Amino acid sequence: MMPSEIAVYGLGVMGRNIALNMADHGLRVAVYNRTSSITEDFVGELPTDSRITAHYSLEDLAAGLSSPRIIFLMTKAGGVVDRVVEGLLPHLDSGDIVIDAGNSHFRDSQRRWEDWRQRGIRFLGVGVSGGEEGARHGPSIMPGGDPEAWPVVRDILQRIAARTEDGASCCQWVGQGAAGHYVKMIHNGIEYGDMQLITEAWQLMRDGLGMPAAEIAATFAHWNQGVLASYLIEITAEILTVTEHDGSLRVNHILDTAGQKGTGRWTAIDALELGVPLTLIGEAVFARALSSMKAERVAAAAQLGSAKVTPASKRVIELDAIRDALYAAKIISYAQGFLQLREAAAEYDWQLAYGEIATLWRAGCIIRSRFLNDIRDAFERDPGLPSLLFDDFFASALRSAEPGWRSAVTLGVQSGIPLPAMGAALSFFDGYRSAVLPAGLLQAQRDYFGAHTYQRTDRDPEQRWHTRWTGDLSEEAIDD
Ligand code: NDP
Repeated sequence: MMPSEIAVYGLGVMGRNIALNMADHGLRVAVYNRTSSITEDFVGELPTDSRITAHYSLEDLAAGLSSPRIIFLMTKAGGVVDRVVEGLLPHLDSGDIVIDAGNSHFRDSQRRWEDWRQRGIRFLGVGVSGGEEGARHGPSIMPGGDPEAWPVVRDILQRIAARTEDGASCCQWVGQGAAGHYVKMIHNGIEYGDMQLITEAWQLMRDGLGMPAAEIAATFAHWNQGVLASYLIEITAEILTVTEHDGSLRVNHILDTAGQKGTGRWTAIDALELGVPLTLIGEAVFARALSSMKAERVAAAAQLGSAKVTPASKRVIELDAIRDALYAAKIISYAQGFLQLREAAAEYDWQLAYGEIATLWRAGCIIRSRFLNDIRDAFERDPGLPSLLFDDFFASALRSAEPGWRSAVTLGVQSGIPLPAMGAALSFFDGYRSAVLPAGLLQAQRDYFGAHTYQRTDRDPEQRWHTRWTGDLSEEAIDD
């Protein structure tokens, strides 16, 4: 029998579909799963001429692969990946490639890259997005790891990845070490932000404008034809048409406590560690945390009273204002996400190609959208763009959206509708474009209670000063 070109280890929802996707693209695929009955069930349903071969021991799996071996791990993330690789090592040769395609934390990937290299294994840490459907028909793939392993697997990964309408592959090299898993983490953070923004727009329409459900669904469907066109807006429009037997919306019966698997939290934690003002995604993570405090919220609603729903007859702001708020806040969210990528690249020593990253999110993944074309264009115009907000296209989009954005946030504030993401985005915008912030007072406070010193705007900026705040108010120059 011809040896297989690649092995898929782990036949959960993702692994099974990736294996089928690979076979559809002409690859001979070896499959293995810890629980062998899962492998049996999977291959039992395949046609006899399938290019997929089942293996039931690691020795047999290794023997069935061409050289260098390429093993695509699609297992649960965490310690499992280390244990799996320990089990594989005795059966591998120097130069073999192990691709960890699960949702691993980037710090684990960085460690594995260094560890495995010393054991002769070429590591690739690859982010995969698109869920079951993406895995089957073309996910977005974010490969990082050992740059020398990339040319060996490029053709395989690009064959199974999604393609944009203009034919670009949604699988482009991201960078060495943990860069692939880092970019996937930022993708997931952005996904949290996009989802939160959509829920806020929904509540503004429902409770702030008193719009009937069908009109809200039609509005999202209409928005999906314009600058907001995206997978998440499209599925929202669909979800908001699904009703119960009594005509009520199904979504209004779904318990309002949002789950999370942790990748949004990882993004926010790393933002805090890097000192990046990733406010919108941070708020989106906290909004899920607040949603899960259901019993406490119910009690507080009784104690403190809730937002009043505006009657439909009173359209206090234009519907377009909500669209503008959603669009402007989305620009801020992506600007913050790319700001974090820039800081991470400097901190972890990656050469990230931001335009390519926007390209590989354009299809196949959950945040796919027309908007990402504009981001790619912005980085094509200027690969060294310090922030999306300096790009003329986005700067002018923000200027046009600003009045509507402010009135939508004002409506939320006045009617008691929480807008953590839209509001945080507006505060970031106002802060980012402030040549002067009130942080001079913070510095004075720090100097008052902790003698932390400050710099002055009207003297040598390198020189530090301390005021004797509780003494004679004189200033002294402080040398390091
Ligand atoms: P799971 O995350 O549930 O992973 C299941 C697979 O991991 C099974 O093959 C399971 O084998 C294997 N596994 C678990 N523990 C061990 C172990 N100790 N040793 C060996 N194998 C083990 O399934 P998914 O397919 O949903 O996800 C796979 C990976 O892809 C995860 O890292 C996930 O985070 C990531 N991912 C998932 C997406 C999704 O939409 N589901 C999207 C993008 C990425 P067994 O059958 O023997 O239990």
